[in-house]
Amino acid sequence: MNTTFKEILLKEGLKDWEIRKTHSGGGLCLHFTKKIWIDGEHWNLPFLLHEVAHALLPRKHYHDAIWGDKYTMLCEKYLTREALKC
Ligand SMILES: [Zn+2]
Repeated sequence: MNTTFKEILLKEGLKDWEIRKTHSGGGLCLHFTKKIWIDGEHWNLPFLLHEVAHALLPRKHYHDAIWGDKYTMLCEKYLTREALKC
């Protein structure tokens, strides 16, 4: 699963970003240090794509419409139709 996550980062042009499994209780996108933190309990593709959408946009967008479009685009690209139902 780790390889797949890294592959997605590479495909999205985030090649110098790192993903780290944490116990933070959620996800975090650290633009300054180029790190994505994801809690072990949320270690799944939709959660990764959520953080990747943050990584691809300036911090100010947070969860606005532009971020929403980016997240939707990533989901359509990487998630199967079955996965989108949940
Ligand atoms: Zn978020």
